[in-house]
Amino acid sequence: MSCDFLTLAVDGVRLLQPYEPGKPIETLERELGIRDSLKLASNENPLGPSPLAMAAMQRQLGKISVYPDGNGFALKAVLADYHRVGRECVTLGNGSNEILELVARAFLRPALNAVFSRHAFAVYSIVVQAVGATARVAQPNAPEHAMPFGHNLQALGKLVDGETRVVFVANPNNPTGTWINGAQLRQFIRELPATTLVVVDEAYFEYVQASDYPNAVAWLAEFPNLIVTRTFSKVYGLAGLRIGYGLSHPAVADLLNRVRQPFNTSSVAQAAALAALDDAGHVARSREMNNAGLVQFAGAFEARGLSFIPSVGNFICVDVGRDASAVYQALLREGVIVRPVASYELPEYLRVTIGREDQNRRVIDALDKVLSP
Ligand SMILES: *Cc1c(COP(=O)(O)O)cnc(C)c1O
Repeated sequence: MSCDFLTLAVDGVRLLQPYEPGKPIETLERELGIRDSLKLASNENPLGPSPLAMAAMQRQLGKISVYPDGNGFALKAVLADYHRVGRECVTLGNGSNEILELVARAFLRPALNAVFSRHAFAVYSIVVQAVGATARVAQPNAPEHAMPFGHNLQALGKLVDGETRVVFVANPNNPTGTWINGAQLRQFIRELPATTLVVVDEAYFEYVQASDYPNAVAWLAEFPNLIVTRTFSKVYGLAGLRIGYGLSHPAVADLLNRVRQPFNTSSVAQAAALAALDDAGHVARSREMNNAGLVQFAGAFEARGLSFIPSVGNFICVDVGRDASAVYQALLREGVIVRPVASYELPEYLRVTIGREDQNRRVIDALDKVLSP
């Protein structure tokens, strides 16, 4: 007789809800027996990766029988140069999600807490709960705020106490797309206790055009308790490869490196990331296409009287004015996969990843069809 494994699991794990990823195209097409569907649900780059990254991966495949450089010497050196920090400040991760997990494992435990905002990126609560620490969830900005549902730094700060080891701030946040300006974020970090680490998650950094949007990497020398995370999953178009990194004080990086697996990033991923950093043109083209798409969606939503959350990411949340799960399902039948965000406590919103012009048009046409009375 098998035993009740649920009772054996540690407290934090027993209460966890698994992360809900966007529906894969193959799954939808299998379920509905359709083809040519479109997925704009997981904030992937519609241009794909740089050709330089593709070529680097291909070259690396010939050496796949050999373990990767566990310390990622070459990639760390280039990242350190790129960001003008010491090599010992860099931690490579299997996606930047792994960095978030390493922070939780290195610094949190039961009786300690982590602070983040309601509607913040789902992985924060998962990594905090998994190690049995307490998640303190701050009230977000009000719906009528200029950054509706975004992080409210005052509310976050009020939840911080002597047992708070980590504060997670996504800038911009996913799924809201809202951001925090440089002056306010810097002041917030300055006022944190020295014993509280702050993770500034900049997964969408390269996309952001807002003039008051900060590069938190510039503050690393000033704040030893700051960890900035970046990823190759978004603008670099390498989500399937799983590579991201953290930048921090060397003492913090040393601790993160103690808990990671020895070969947490693959040799192919390291090679691709290195090459991707060389293709500034690809990043610029991706950013331009994204900006055009943000404008396209905003215009279309306005024309239809649909409110939306202003976004600087490669996605935008639209208020469909009713339970969004039915709209999501109806869009699936049109072969269009977007992301319902009820699990983020935004039950009347859908998050749409910005695609190419024709892809965005298809989403808008499908929305017209399913929202028409
Ligand atoms: C997509 C995303 C990430 C990146 O995850 P990876 O593990 O690097 O693929 C991190 N933070 C936020 C807020 C995101 O939306």
